[in-house]
Amino acid sequence: MPELPEVETTKNAIAPIIKNQIIQNVIIHQKQLRWPIDRIITQTLPNDTFTNIKRRGKYLLLETKQGTLIIHLGMTGCLKYLPWETPLIKHDHFEIKLKSKITVRYNDPRKFGFILWTTEPTELHPLLSKLGPEPLTQSFNTKYLFTKCLASSRPIKNLIMDNTVVVGVGNIYATESLFTAKILPHRKSNTLQENEVSLLVKEIKKILKKSINAGGTTLKDFYSPDGKPGYFKQKLQIYGKKGENCYLCNANINKIVLAQRTTTYCPNCQI
Ligand SMILES: [Zn+2]
Repeated sequence: MPELPEVETTKNAIAPIIKNQIIQNVIIHQKQLRWPIDRIITQTLPNDTFTNIKRRGKYLLLETKQGTLIIHLGMTGCLKYLPWETPLIKHDHFEIKLKSKITVRYNDPRKFGFILWTTEPTELHPLLSKLGPEPLTQSFNTKYLFTKCLASSRPIKNLIMDNTVVVGVGNIYATESLFTAKILPHRKSNTLQENEVSLLVKEIKKILKKSINAGGTTLKDFYSPDGKPGYFKQKLQIYGKKGENCYLCNANINKIVLAQRTTTYCPNCQI
């Protein structure tokens, strides 16, 4: 599933291609994604210009003079940019042709992603209005997370995966950062000490930055017609390693399920 680093990399890949470019036309090949694509954009977007490309959580925001396309990649979605005449491939559902003779295509085998159009400020959109701070900004800091912890008896892993607390900490990143911060994923949030929260904040930022940097090496995948921008190969220390031995202490790695998500941890290193 594309996580925050993949979405950030997608933004970095397509922003220089579409910013300040004029739209020739918009073609919907398959309207039925998680929510149907509003056909109005085939009429309103031609001759409009992309003014800015942003990311908020896992949403891509493609701003034009008239409004914003909100794109979510779902489980298997990806965006690519190609010359106009490149033949369509299976699961190409949507494309935006630019006057520059480049087309931006949305491909999504499982169709869990979506493309919405809004003319309202995006921060007021129901999908975005309740989102917590971005993990890589100053607003996500020890004081902030410690306050959230004190107010909750939920397992700490569930808290940091809650988008209203902080966006973009998916299962892999939550599992890995709790390991490197040496905190058990099922610890009640309100039992964490301030120094533990401080380390956790640092580790979350560190692993996300590392993944975004790894994504920089995959930028070429965004303009190859058949290659698909994939998951970043990253060295994981604990995620998905149930039954293996902890590389720090050699103890057997345990597995539990928290909020329906498989969670691995070292019963020795994490307290
Ligand atoms: Zn260990």
